[in-house]
Amino acid sequence: MNKKIYDIAIIGGGPAGIFAAYYARMRKLDVALIESLPKLGGQPETLYAQKEIFDVAALPKVSGTDLTESLVQQLDLLGCDKYLSTSVTNLEHDNDIWYITTDGKSIDTKSIIIAIGNGAFKPRKLTFDYDPLLEENNLSYFVNDVNDFLDKDIAIAGGGDSAVDWAIHLDKIANSTSLIHRRNKYRAMESSVTDLNDSNVTQLNPYIIKDVHFNQDDNSKVDVVLKMIRSDELKTITVDKLLINYGFISDSKILHDWNLDLEGPFIKVDQEMETNLPNVFAIGDIITYPGKLQLIATAFAEGPIAVTRALRNLYPERDYFAHSTSLFEQ
Ligand SMILES: Cc1cc2nc3c(=O)[nH]c(=O)nc-3n(C[C@H](O)[C@H](O)[C@H](O)COP(=O)(O)OP(=O)(O)OC[C@H]3O[C@@H](n4cnc5c(N)ncnc54)[C@H](O)[C@@H]3O)c2cc1C
Repeated sequence: MNKKIYDIAIIGGGPAGIFAAYYARMRKLDVALIESLPKLGGQPETLYAQKEIFDVAALPKVSGTDLTESLVQQLDLLGCDKYLSTSVTNLEHDNDIWYITTDGKSIDTKSIIIAIGNGAFKPRKLTFDYDPLLEENNLSYFVNDVNDFLDKDIAIAGGGDSAVDWAIHLDKIANSTSLIHRRNKYRAMESSVTDLNDSNVTQLNPYIIKDVHFNQDDNSKVDVVLKMIRSDELKTITVDKLLINYGFISDSKILHDWNLDLEGPFIKVDQEMETNLPNVFAIGDIITYPGKLQLIATAFAEGPIAVTRALRNLYPERDYFAHSTSLFEQ
Protein backbone atom coordinates (compact mmCIF):
# COMPACT_ATOMS: atom_id res chain seq x y z
CA MET A 1 0.00 0.00 0.00
CA ASN A 2 1.30 3.45 -0.90
CA LYS A 3 2.14 5.70 2.00
CA LYS A 4 -0.21 8.63 2.56
CA ILE A 5 1.07 12.01 1.38
CA TYR A 6 -0.56 14.90 3.21
CA ASP A 7 -1.24 18.27 1.59
CA ILE A 8 -0.05 20.05 4.72
CA ALA A 9 1.80 18.85 7.79
CA ILE A 10 1.64 21.34 10.64
CA ILE A 11 4.47 21.07 13.12
CA GLY A 12 3.36 22.31 16.53
CA GLY A 13 -0.04 22.05 18.17
CA GLY A 14 -0.24 25.40 19.97
CA PRO A 15 -2.95 27.99 19.17
CA ALA A 16 -1.31 28.82 15.82
CA GLY A 17 -1.03 25.19 14.70
CA ILE A 18 -4.47 24.06 15.87
CA PHE A 19 -6.31 26.93 14.19
CA ALA A 20 -4.25 26.57 11.00
CA ALA A 21 -5.13 22.85 10.93
CA TYR A 22 -8.82 23.67 11.23
CA TYR A 23 -8.65 26.33 8.53
CA ALA A 24 -6.74 23.99 6.20
CA ARG A 25 -9.46 21.35 6.71
CA MET A 26 -12.07 24.00 5.82
CA ARG A 27 -10.17 24.53 2.59
CA LYS A 28 -10.49 20.74 2.03
CA LEU A 29 -6.81 19.96 2.46
CA ASP A 30 -5.50 16.72 3.93
CA VAL A 31 -3.81 17.69 7.19
CA ALA A 32 -1.43 16.15 9.71
CA LEU A 33 -0.95 18.00 13.01
CA ILE A 34 2.23 16.98 14.85
CA GLU A 35 2.80 17.88 18.51
CA SER A 36 5.71 16.85 20.69
CA LEU A 37 3.70 16.88 23.92
CA PRO A 38 1.01 14.32 24.79
CA LYS A 39 -1.66 16.99 24.36
CA LEU A 40 -2.44 19.97 22.16
CA GLY A 41 -2.52 23.56 23.38
CA GLY A 42 1.02 24.95 23.41
CA GLN A 43 1.89 27.72 25.86
CA PRO A 44 -1.66 28.56 27.05
CA GLU A 45 -2.23 24.93 28.01
CA THR A 46 1.20 24.10 29.41
CA LEU A 47 2.47 27.37 30.85
CA TYR A 48 -0.63 29.23 32.03
CA ALA A 49 -3.58 26.86 32.05
CA GLN A 50 -5.67 28.81 34.58
CA LYS A 51 -4.47 32.34 33.78
CA GLU A 52 -7.05 34.49 32.08
CA ILE A 53 -6.44 35.92 28.60
CA PHE A 54 -8.21 39.17 27.71
CA ASP A 55 -7.07 39.88 24.15
CA VAL A 56 -8.53 37.10 22.07
CA ALA A 57 -11.21 38.55 19.79
CA ALA A 58 -14.82 37.87 20.82
CA LEU A 59 -13.79 36.29 24.14
CA PRO A 60 -13.87 38.95 26.91
CA LYS A 61 -11.82 36.56 29.03
CA VAL A 62 -10.77 32.97 28.66
CA SER A 63 -8.37 30.69 30.54
CA GLY A 64 -5.52 28.90 28.74
CA THR A 65 -7.26 25.57 29.23
CA ASP A 66 -10.68 26.78 28.04
CA LEU A 67 -9.13 28.40 24.97
CA THR A 68 -7.41 25.10 24.10
CA GLU A 69 -10.59 23.13 24.67
CA SER A 70 -12.53 25.41 22.30
CA LEU A 71 -9.79 25.27 19.66
CA VAL A 72 -9.68 21.46 19.79
CA GLN A 73 -13.49 21.25 19.71
CA GLN A 74 -13.51 23.45 16.62
CA LEU A 75 -10.79 21.36 14.94
CA ASP A 76 -12.65 18.15 15.76
CA LEU A 77 -15.69 19.41 13.81
CA LEU A 78 -13.68 18.68 10.67
CA GLY A 79 -10.98 16.39 12.13
CA CYS A 80 -7.41 15.83 11.00
CA ASP A 81 -4.71 13.26 11.67
CA LYS A 82 -3.14 14.17 15.02
CA TYR A 83 0.29 12.87 15.92
CA LEU A 84 0.76 13.55 19.65
CA SER A 85 3.91 12.81 21.69
CA THR A 86 5.72 13.12 18.36
CA SER A 87 8.69 15.47 17.96
CA VAL A 88 9.85 16.45 14.51
CA THR A 89 13.59 16.01 14.27
CA ASN A 90 14.38 16.44 10.58
CA LEU A 91 13.01 17.61 7.22
CA GLU A 92 14.15 16.42 3.80
CA HIS A 93 12.90 17.45 0.38
CA ASP A 94 12.85 15.43 -2.81
CA ASN A 95 10.65 15.57 -5.94
CA ASP A 96 8.19 18.09 -4.44
CA ILE A 97 7.63 15.94 -1.36
CA TRP A 98 8.80 16.75 2.16
CA TYR A 99 9.86 13.78 4.26
CA ILE A 100 9.42 14.56 7.93
CA THR A 101 11.38 12.52 10.42
CA THR A 102 10.03 12.32 13.94
CA ASP A 103 11.19 10.45 17.01
CA GLY A 104 8.66 7.71 16.15
CA LYS A 105 7.47 7.62 12.57
CA SER A 106 8.04 9.40 9.27
CA ILE A 107 5.38 11.60 7.68
CA ASP A 108 5.26 12.59 4.01
CA THR A 109 3.68 15.84 2.85
CA LYS A 110 3.52 18.30 -0.02
CA SER A 111 3.85 21.33 2.24
CA ILE A 112 4.71 22.21 5.81
CA ILE A 113 3.62 24.88 8.26
CA ILE A 114 6.07 25.31 11.12
CA ALA A 115 4.21 26.50 14.24
CA ILE A 116 6.63 25.45 16.97
CA GLY A 117 6.39 28.55 19.20
CA ASN A 118 9.46 28.67 21.35
CA GLY A 119 10.49 25.16 20.30
CA ALA A 120 9.73 21.74 21.70
CA PHE A 121 8.83 21.97 25.37
CA LYS A 122 10.26 19.50 27.80
CA PRO A 123 9.31 19.57 31.46
CA ARG A 124 12.10 20.39 33.92
CA LYS A 125 12.46 17.12 35.78
CA LEU A 126 13.61 16.20 39.27
CA THR A 127 17.38 16.30 39.19
CA PHE A 128 18.05 13.13 41.21
CA ASP A 129 17.51 9.49 40.21
CA TYR A 130 14.29 7.76 41.22
CA ASP A 131 12.49 4.53 40.38
CA PRO A 132 11.11 5.11 36.83
CA LEU A 133 8.07 2.98 37.74
CA LEU A 134 6.90 5.92 39.86
CA GLU A 135 6.03 7.73 36.62
CA GLU A 136 3.44 5.06 35.79
CA ASN A 137 0.97 6.10 38.49
CA ASN A 138 2.40 8.33 41.16
CA LEU A 139 4.68 10.97 39.69
CA SER A 140 3.82 13.23 36.78
CA TYR A 141 5.00 16.42 35.11
CA PHE A 142 1.67 17.16 33.38
CA VAL A 143 -1.98 17.01 34.25
CA ASN A 144 -3.44 14.81 31.53
CA ASP A 145 -6.79 14.27 33.20
CA VAL A 146 -7.88 16.10 36.36
CA ASN A 147 -9.91 13.02 37.34
CA ASP A 148 -6.61 11.22 38.07
CA PHE A 149 -6.50 13.42 41.19
CA LEU A 150 -10.09 12.85 42.32
CA ASP A 151 -10.24 12.05 46.08
CA LYS A 152 -6.46 11.58 46.20
CA ASP A 153 -3.84 12.93 48.58
CA ILE A 154 -1.64 15.01 46.32
CA ALA A 155 1.54 17.05 46.51
CA ILE A 156 2.45 19.67 43.93
CA ALA A 157 5.98 21.03 43.64
CA GLY A 158 6.76 24.47 42.20
CA GLY A 159 6.17 28.12 42.89
CA GLY A 160 5.08 29.62 39.57
CA ASP A 161 1.63 30.32 38.10
CA SER A 162 1.20 26.78 36.94
CA ALA A 163 1.93 25.12 40.33
CA VAL A 164 -0.18 27.62 42.26
CA ASP A 165 -3.09 27.41 39.80
CA TRP A 166 -3.07 23.61 39.81
CA ALA A 167 -2.93 23.53 43.62
CA ILE A 168 -6.04 25.74 43.86
CA HIS A 169 -7.83 23.90 41.07
CA LEU A 170 -7.03 20.30 42.09
CA ASP A 171 -7.70 20.96 45.77
CA LYS A 172 -11.38 21.29 44.84
CA ILE A 173 -11.50 17.59 43.91
CA ALA A 174 -8.58 16.07 45.86
CA ASN A 175 -8.76 14.61 49.35
CA SER A 176 -5.82 16.77 50.42
CA THR A 177 -3.33 19.02 48.62
CA SER A 178 0.14 20.14 49.64
CA LEU A 179 2.17 22.70 47.71
CA ILE A 180 5.95 22.40 48.06
CA HIS A 181 8.07 25.45 47.17
CA ARG A 182 11.69 26.34 47.81
CA ARG A 183 10.91 29.95 48.72
CA ASN A 184 8.39 31.66 50.96
CA LYS A 185 7.24 33.84 48.05
CA TYR A 186 5.53 32.54 44.91
CA ARG A 187 6.18 33.66 41.33
CA ALA A 188 2.47 33.68 40.57
CA MET A 189 -0.22 36.30 39.95
CA GLU A 190 -1.19 38.14 43.13
CA SER A 191 -4.84 37.14 42.78
CA SER A 192 -3.80 33.46 42.53
CA VAL A 193 -1.68 33.76 45.68
CA THR A 194 -4.65 35.32 47.49
CA ASP A 195 -6.84 32.41 46.35
CA LEU A 196 -4.14 29.98 47.50
CA ASN A 197 -4.00 31.58 50.94
CA ASP A 198 -7.81 31.37 51.18
CA SER A 199 -7.82 27.69 50.18
CA ASN A 200 -7.27 24.50 52.20
CA VAL A 201 -3.95 23.81 50.44
CA THR A 202 -1.14 23.02 52.91
CA GLN A 203 1.83 25.19 51.96
CA LEU A 204 5.20 23.55 52.59
CA ASN A 205 7.89 26.18 52.24
CA PRO A 206 10.75 26.73 52.07
CA TYR A 207 11.37 23.07 51.20
CA ILE A 208 12.99 21.18 48.34
CA ILE A 209 12.40 17.57 47.39
CA LYS A 210 15.40 15.41 48.30
CA ASP A 211 14.05 11.99 47.37
CA VAL A 212 10.94 10.14 46.19
CA HIS A 213 10.26 6.42 46.61
CA PHE A 214 7.39 3.96 46.90
CA ASN A 215 5.97 3.80 50.41
CA GLN A 216 7.15 0.57 52.07
CA ASP A 217 3.80 -0.36 53.65
CA ASP A 218 1.58 0.66 50.74
CA ASN A 219 3.32 0.70 47.40
CA SER A 220 0.37 2.42 45.73
CA LYS A 221 1.62 5.55 47.52
CA VAL A 222 4.76 7.63 47.21
CA ASP A 223 6.96 9.01 50.00
CA VAL A 224 8.24 12.50 49.27
CA VAL A 225 11.28 13.40 51.36
CA LEU A 226 11.61 17.15 51.90
CA LYS A 227 14.56 19.16 53.14
CA MET A 228 14.10 22.61 54.60
CA ILE A 229 16.21 25.24 52.84
CA ARG A 230 19.30 26.31 54.85
CA SER A 231 18.56 23.71 57.51
CA ASP A 232 19.15 19.98 58.02
CA GLU A 233 15.52 19.40 58.87
CA LEU A 234 14.03 16.54 56.86
CA LYS A 235 10.39 15.56 56.72
CA THR A 236 8.53 12.93 54.71
CA ILE A 237 4.99 13.20 53.41
CA THR A 238 3.12 10.25 51.90
CA VAL A 239 0.75 10.95 49.02
CA ASP A 240 -1.02 9.17 46.16
CA LYS A 241 0.17 11.62 43.52
CA LEU A 242 3.12 13.94 43.14
CA LEU A 243 2.84 16.59 40.42
CA ILE A 244 6.07 18.40 39.52
CA ASN A 245 5.57 21.87 38.03
CA TYR A 246 9.09 23.22 37.67
CA GLY A 247 8.34 24.78 34.28
CA PHE A 248 9.42 23.84 30.80
CA ILE A 249 12.63 24.03 28.78
CA SER A 250 12.23 24.86 25.11
CA ASP A 251 14.63 24.21 22.28
CA SER A 252 14.60 25.73 18.79
CA LYS A 253 18.16 24.67 17.87
CA ILE A 254 16.84 22.26 15.23
CA LEU A 255 15.87 25.21 13.03
CA HIS A 256 19.54 25.70 12.18
CA ASP A 257 19.75 22.12 10.89
CA TRP A 258 16.72 22.65 8.65
CA ASN A 259 18.48 25.37 6.59
CA LEU A 260 15.84 27.97 7.33
CA ASP A 261 16.62 31.66 6.98
CA LEU A 262 16.67 32.93 10.55
CA GLU A 263 16.84 36.27 12.30
CA GLY A 264 18.14 35.45 15.77
CA PRO A 265 16.03 32.54 17.03
CA PHE A 266 13.12 33.38 14.66
CA ILE A 267 12.22 32.16 11.17
CA LYS A 268 12.05 34.94 8.58
CA VAL A 269 8.82 34.88 6.54
CA ASP A 270 7.36 37.09 3.85
CA GLN A 271 3.87 38.62 3.95
CA GLU A 272 2.36 35.27 2.94
CA MET A 273 4.21 33.40 5.73
CA GLU A 274 6.54 31.71 3.23
CA THR A 275 10.03 30.78 4.38
CA ASN A 276 13.08 30.44 2.12
CA LEU A 277 12.29 26.72 1.59
CA PRO A 278 9.81 25.57 -1.09
CA ASN A 279 6.30 25.06 0.28
CA VAL A 280 7.46 25.55 3.83
CA PHE A 281 5.56 28.19 5.78
CA ALA A 282 5.84 29.34 9.37
CA ILE A 283 3.41 31.05 11.75
CA GLY A 284 3.00 32.06 15.40
CA ASP A 285 5.67 32.89 17.96
CA ILE A 286 8.51 31.30 15.98
CA ILE A 287 8.39 33.82 13.12
CA THR A 288 9.53 37.33 12.52
CA TYR A 289 8.51 40.02 10.01
CA PRO A 290 8.31 43.80 10.37
CA GLY A 291 5.70 44.56 13.02
CA LYS A 292 5.32 40.97 14.26
CA LEU A 293 3.58 40.66 17.66
CA GLN A 294 3.86 37.48 19.71
CA LEU A 295 0.16 37.22 20.42
CA ILE A 296 -2.52 34.58 19.99
CA ALA A 297 -4.54 37.06 17.91
CA THR A 298 -1.76 37.45 15.33
CA ALA A 299 -1.04 33.70 15.34
CA PHE A 300 -4.70 33.06 14.47
CA ALA A 301 -4.48 35.41 11.49
CA GLU A 302 -1.20 33.99 10.18
CA GLY A 303 -2.63 30.45 9.82
CA PRO A 304 -5.24 31.25 7.12
CA ILE A 305 -2.68 33.37 5.22
CA ALA A 306 -0.18 30.46 5.15
CA VAL A 307 -2.84 27.88 4.28
CA THR A 308 -4.18 30.01 1.42
CA ARG A 309 -0.68 30.47 -0.03
CA ALA A 310 0.00 26.72 0.29
CA LEU A 311 -3.31 25.92 -1.43
CA ARG A 312 -2.46 28.27 -4.30
CA ASN A 313 0.97 26.67 -4.69
CA LEU A 314 -0.34 23.10 -4.59
CA TYR A 315 -3.66 23.44 -6.42
CA PRO A 316 -3.67 26.64 -8.52
CA GLU A 317 -6.94 25.51 -10.14
CA ARG A 318 -8.63 25.73 -6.73
CA ASP A 319 -7.50 29.30 -6.26
CA TYR A 320 -10.65 30.87 -4.91
CA PHE A 321 -11.46 32.61 -1.72
CA ALA A 322 -14.74 32.29 0.13
CA HIS A 323 -16.15 33.09 3.53
CA SER A 324 -16.66 30.33 6.06
CA THR A 325 -20.39 29.92 5.44
CA SER A 326 -19.62 28.78 1.88
CA LEU A 327 -16.62 26.69 2.90
CA PHE A 328 -18.10 24.89 5.87
CA GLU A 329 -20.28 21.88 5.17
CA GLN A 330 -21.76 20.19 8.25
C1 LIG B 1 2.90 33.47 30.81
C2 LIG B 1 2.41 33.85 29.42
C3 LIG B 1 1.27 34.61 29.29
C4 LIG B 1 0.81 34.97 28.02
N1 LIG B 1 -0.34 35.72 27.93
C5 LIG B 1 -0.83 36.01 26.70
C6 LIG B 1 -2.03 36.78 26.57
O1 LIG B 1 -2.65 37.19 27.57
N2 LIG B 1 -2.47 37.04 25.30
C7 LIG B 1 -1.82 36.60 24.17
O2 LIG B 1 -2.30 36.85 23.05
N3 LIG B 1 -0.67 35.89 24.27
C8 LIG B 1 -0.17 35.59 25.50
N4 LIG B 1 1.00 34.88 25.60
C9 LIG B 1 1.69 34.51 24.34
C10 LIG B 1 0.98 33.34 23.66
O3 LIG B 1 0.86 32.23 24.56
C11 LIG B 1 1.77 32.93 22.42
O4 LIG B 1 1.82 34.04 21.54
C12 LIG B 1 1.10 31.75 21.71
O5 LIG B 1 1.06 30.62 22.56
C13 LIG B 1 1.88 31.40 20.42
O6 LIG B 1 1.29 30.26 19.88
P1 LIG B 1 2.14 29.25 18.95
O7 LIG B 1 1.15 28.20 18.53
O8 LIG B 1 2.90 30.02 17.95
O9 LIG B 1 3.24 28.63 19.92
P2 LIG B 1 3.15 27.72 21.23
O10 LIG B 1 1.95 28.07 22.04
O11 LIG B 1 4.49 27.85 21.84
O12 LIG B 1 2.96 26.24 20.65
C14 LIG B 1 3.96 25.60 19.95
C15 LIG B 1 3.78 24.10 20.06
O13 LIG B 1 4.71 23.44 19.18
C16 LIG B 1 5.20 22.28 19.81
N5 LIG B 1 6.50 21.93 19.21
C17 LIG B 1 7.65 22.64 19.31
N6 LIG B 1 8.65 22.03 18.64
C18 LIG B 1 8.12 20.91 18.10
C19 LIG B 1 8.65 19.86 17.31
N7 LIG B 1 9.93 19.84 16.91
N8 LIG B 1 7.84 18.84 16.95
C20 LIG B 1 6.52 18.84 17.33
N9 LIG B 1 5.97 19.82 18.09
C21 LIG B 1 6.75 20.84 18.46
C22 LIG B 1 5.31 22.70 21.29
O14 LIG B 1 5.32 21.56 22.16
C23 LIG B 1 4.06 23.56 21.47
O15 LIG B 1 2.95 22.81 21.91
C24 LIG B 1 1.50 34.53 26.86
C25 LIG B 1 2.66 33.76 26.98
C26 LIG B 1 3.12 33.42 28.25
C27 LIG B 1 4.37 32.59 28.38
